[in-house]
Amino acid sequence: DPRIAGISSAIRIIPDFPKPGIMFQDITTLLLDTKAFKDTIDLFVERYRDQNISVVAGVEARGFIFGPPIALAIGAKFVPMRKPKKLPGEVISEEYSLEYGTDKIEMHVGAVKPGERALVIDDLIATGGTLCAAIKLLERVGVTVVECACVIELPELKGREKLGGKSLFILVEGE
Ligand code: IMP
Repeated sequence: DPRIAGISSAIRIIPDFPKPGIMFQDITTLLLDTKAFKDTIDLFVERYRDQNISVVAGVEARGFIFGPPIALAIGAKFVPMRKPKKLPGEVISEEYSLEYGTDKIEMHVGAVKPGERALVIDDLIATGGTLCAAIKLLERVGVTVVECACVIELPELKGREKLGGKSLFILVEGE
């Protein structure tokens, strides 16, 4: 798709953030480029409209930027999947491992119903741990995860393989 090159070049790479050796993929510059930002949302909307998706689940924090415009355009609700202790109501949570230690994501009980069809969205997949936890959380409450979608994949980290065969759609590859 001719729009991908513009999206790719609007993403800024910041070396050594947040730690030495990490090449941080910064999507805030994509948000400043009105064409590239719109093209990003349009590409997802074109793929997911007419797929009977009733839930767009966005992972904190940057899934909260891309998820809502997609949800509105395809007529789905938006469900935030948050870091621990942020959601005020009753939650269910899923733990996942990080390089050092563990983390958790949480979702409100009652936000989704068994049998609903969901898209999970985040800005980037690295090791795949975050998306894997999001899939598990939704599947535990009987939701079908149709696909996961990210703007950027870091293919060297093979996060795709952690998704238990779930399909992953991405727009650009980073290093
Ligand atoms: P994973 O769980 O290892 O796949 O890491 C993915 C999570 O880390 C996502 O929520 C990303 O937003 C975040 N992340 C990891 N590396 C980067 C990066 O280079 N840029 C932006 N977000 C990143």
